[in-house]
Amino acid sequence: MVKDSDKPLAVLIVEDEPVNAAFLRGIVGKLAEVGRIETVSSLREAHDRLGERFDVVLLDLNLPDSGGLDTLMSVTSDWPQVAVVVVTGEHDEQTGLRTLVEGAQEYLVKGKYDAYTLQKSIRYAVERKRTEVSQKRLLRDLEGVNQELRDFAYIISHDLKAPLRGISSLAQWIAEDCADKLGDDGKEHLELLLSRVERMHDLIDGVLQYSRVGRICEEQVDVDLNELLAEAADMVAAPEHIRIEVAEGLPTVHGERTRLLQVFQNLLSNAVKYMDKPEGRIRVTCEEDGDFWRLAVADNGPGIEEKHFEKIFQIFQTVHNEKTSDSSGVGLSLVKKIVEMYGGRTWVESQVGEGSTFYVTLPRRHEPAPRTPDTAAREILEPAADT
Ligand code: ADP
Repeated sequence: MVKDSDKPLAVLIVEDEPVNAAFLRGIVGKLAEVGRIETVSSLREAHDRLGERFDVVLLDLNLPDSGGLDTLMSVTSDWPQVAVVVVTGEHDEQTGLRTLVEGAQEYLVKGKYDAYTLQKSIRYAVERKRTEVSQKRLLRDLEGVNQELRDFAYIISHDLKAPLRGISSLAQWIAEDCADKLGDDGKEHLELLLSRVERMHDLIDGVLQYSRVGRICEEQVDVDLNELLAEAADMVAAPEHIRIEVAEGLPTVHGERTRLLQVFQNLLSNAVKYMDKPEGRIRVTCEEDGDFWRLAVADNGPGIEEKHFEKIFQIFQTVHNEKTSDSSGVGLSLVKKIVEMYGGRTWVESQVGEGSTFYVTLPRRHEPAPRTPDTAAREILEPAADT
């Protein structure tokens, strides 16, 4: 199959001054990659050729029936696939520059280009246009895939949840109505069945939550991380033996409050859920990291083997241990997806047996509070909530 880039180029020259048109034609005609050249002298004539395939238009902006950027916009709106090299008058270089913003791929100033420059401009313009067209196609495809995912999430929620509810109700009826006939084994199996159904329910909810990030948006507001972390710690309601410490003077960031709350709630609840020490200690600190705030949630829990550092951030990926029976493997994937939505990163550092530190970075939209990374690291204070 002949690739687009191997086909000879079809060039349309739109120029009303015969001398300039002849000059352009003379140069373009010598280019090896050009197969066909047509010349017209007005916008109307150019539009008459709309049905024909051209790869590039050499466009004089000031024509008898159109002037300036209007000429360009008329061409780009009707020929979105065609590369445009604008050829402006010498007095009009500013307009030339603006044409690039308005959709032209290149511009040349009359009297200031030679055969080599023209050839280069045509090649660049065609290449840029091809890249632009393929990027647009890619975006369209992506939008299609996203739509499919949205439909998929909808199908899961409505089509899978309903029969699951049915199974759960039936199992409960059997447990109640046939209690005397079931025997211990039967009851145990039914309980197992119900717990599996519940787990399946949680997994479906996880998929739905994951698919909602970035799709169902609430208003972006300034979020004071001091308040947010206090609330997250409160919601996690750690048992007596686990102490959550939150550094003072955390910054304010910008984003969807509920999503950001979810990030820290998930990190804190994991730190609590997997804690294996009689005196659990969880610390939240913040440091500057270039254009970002780097927040760390550190615990003295069981730690994670390095080989699992990447895997745990993927949806439904859990690391097997005795505490993972109620684990769906969604929490960290949600953290990652939310943080990445704001342009940040997530990662973990850990020593098995000693603990883990989960990091998230969030963009700094406001001037930082007057403190240094060193002081921030030392600002470990009393628990922010009842723990
Ligand atoms: P879940 O929501 O089921 O806890 P996550 O995605 O939040 O799943 O976590 C994935 C895995 O990462 C968990 O199965 C657990 O093994 C591990 N993990 C997460 N946080 C910690 C932590 N603070 N300490 C030790 N292991 C952790």
